[in-house]
This record gives sequence, structure tokens and C-alpha cells, in this order.
Amino acid sequence: MTAPTLLEVTDLHTRYGRVEALSGVSLHVPDGHIVSVIGANGAGKTTLMNSIMGLLPSQGGLTYRGENLQNVSLEGRVARGICLVPERRDLFASMTVADNLTLGAYSRRRSNWKADLDDVYRRFPRLLERRTQLAGTLSGGEQQMLAIGRALMARPTLLLLDEPSLGLAPLIVRDILNIVRQLRSDGVTVLLVEQNARASLAISDEAYVLETGAVKMSGPAQDLARNDELTASYLGG
Ligand code: ATP
Repeated sequence: MTAPTLLEVTDLHTRYGRVEALSGVSLHVPDGHIVSVIGANGAGKTTLMNSIMGLLPSQGGLTYRGENLQNVSLEGRVARGICLVPERRDLFASMTVADNLTLGAYSRRRSNWKADLDDVYRRFPRLLERRTQLAGTLSGGEQQMLAIGRALMARPTLLLLDEPSLGLAPLIVRDILNIVRQLRSDGVTVLLVEQNARASLAISDEAYVLETGAVKMSGPAQDLARNDELTASYLGG
């Protein structure tokens, strides 16, 4: 049985002034899957995430559970369960881990945020240990866990993860990607942007390769991982 579509992006265009950063991107995100978007620096990956979230205006089709998102505000997208973990993580460095997490609940006005907080601490025991520590003093991997944990406080149905492995040591990357895999088991759909093609293909169901604002290749992640052209360009031969 094929999974129903959660997000459909059709011929999406996004510009920065006269520069077209996305020139007709189409992709399909089935409910309950991990879909990865791979591409070099400047390919348009962050632009794609920000366009889906509604942080950047775009032209073209964006539908979520069949509803046209182009008429839905950023807040409306959050209320529908779409949540972005940005590349810069955007934590409140001078606030504690616990306060950063609690703030995550406000975006969807969650009333039972204490249960959500317990759930995040169960998922990330390291955050529980460090709950009174200032976010700015955490390691890179812990900060990424906190950024994902804060997003989970909003109980997302679609999590947009922008380069979660950026700047992290290989062992920590493995931990973070295992967490992403666990999220899928718990029913969260993930759109994952990565430069780390090999690692992201290993946990993804489908993948898209973005090059200068357009989809160059797409297909089941396992097939792309065996594709010679892709292997030579993005997977280090
Ligand atoms: P990276 O991995 O380096 O973050 P990316 O694939 O996420 O790259 P984007 O950040 O989406 O790429 O950038 C896509 C293109 O749009 C690039 O050519 C970039 O220079 C351009 N761009 C991005 N942000 C802006 C901006 N605020 N103003 C003008 N051009 C921009």
C-alpha cells in the first residue's frame, strides 16, 4: 500500500530580488517517510525549506494534506504541524535547556506541555541531565538535540530539518540521524536537508538531488545510493 501524500511541492520558484534561487522544484513527501534533499553549497536547500515554512515568498504549488499552503501564513503552517529546525539552530544561548524547550510549546499553545517535556527528556536523556545549563554552553551535538527537542515540543507532523549534521563529529552525526530514524518510527514525517549525502541516504526512503535551484535526480534512497553519477559527485566516489 502506498503512503498518502503529506506535502506536495510543484514547480516552485523562489527569488531573492533578481536572482532565482529555486527554478521550478517539484517534490513529493509521503506521510511517515524520511525524504532527503541533497545538494552542494548554494544549491537552494535552505531556500526550499524556508519557502515551505513560509519564511520566504514563493510561486508555484505547495499543498499539505491536499490544502493549498500558499494562502496560509507562517503561524498557520505551524498550527498545521509543520515545524522547521533551521541550520543555525536559533537557540536562546543565555537561557537554560529547560526554558528553551518550554518556549517550543508556545508556538502551538500546547496545554499539556509538561507531558511533552517529559517525552523530550525521555528521547534525549542528555538534555534532562543538562536541563539547568545555559544552551550556549552545550556542545554542538547537544545544541542540535536541543533544537530538535524544542521543535518536538510543538508536536509536529512534518519536521523540516536543515543540515542537522553541520559541524558535528561523525559519531555525533550517527546519533542525530538515529534520532531522526526514531522520529519516523513514532509517526513524524521528515524532510531532511543534508550535504552529508551518504549518511542521509542511509536513513531515507526517497531522495532528491538539488543542483543550482533545480532537481537533478530523484528516486528511492537505496537506488540513489547505488547510482554511479551521484556516487562520483556527492558520495566521494
Ligand atoms: P548551503 O548548504 O551553503 O546553506 P543551500 O543549498 O542551502 O546552501 P541556499 O542558502 O538556499 O543554498 O542558497 C541558494 C542560492 O540563493 C545561492 O546562490 C545563494 O547565494 C542565494 N541566496 C541565499 N540567500 C540569499 C539572500 N538572502 N539574498 C540573495 N541571495 C541569496
